[in-house]
Amino acid sequence: MVKEVIIGGLKFTVEVVSNERWTSEHNGEIRYDNQEIFISNILTKEHQELTLLHEIIHAILTQTTRDERDREVLVRCLSQGLFATGYRLEK
Ligand SMILES: [Zn+2]
Repeated sequence: MVKEVIIGGLKFTVEVVSNERWTSEHNGEIRYDNQEIFISNILTKEHQELTLLHEIIHAILTQTTRDERDREVLVRCLSQGLFATGYRLEK
């Protein structure tokens, strides 16, 4: 897993952590103010990559639009769609 990503010119740290609050529907978290992304450690490496992509797309949308309508659906479409092309941050 990468340790940091640049999103809209801002450097976000990426940490794989344990968090009991997370469920199969919620595998990661992004904190915009602190520029931190957290990913669940119970996921496979591949699923962690998908979750990171998901959180990055949340950040991009937050930086670029105030429109909150159907945001989770849009993020899932984009992250799953990009992931399906084989796109990975980790080389
Ligand atoms: Zn989401």
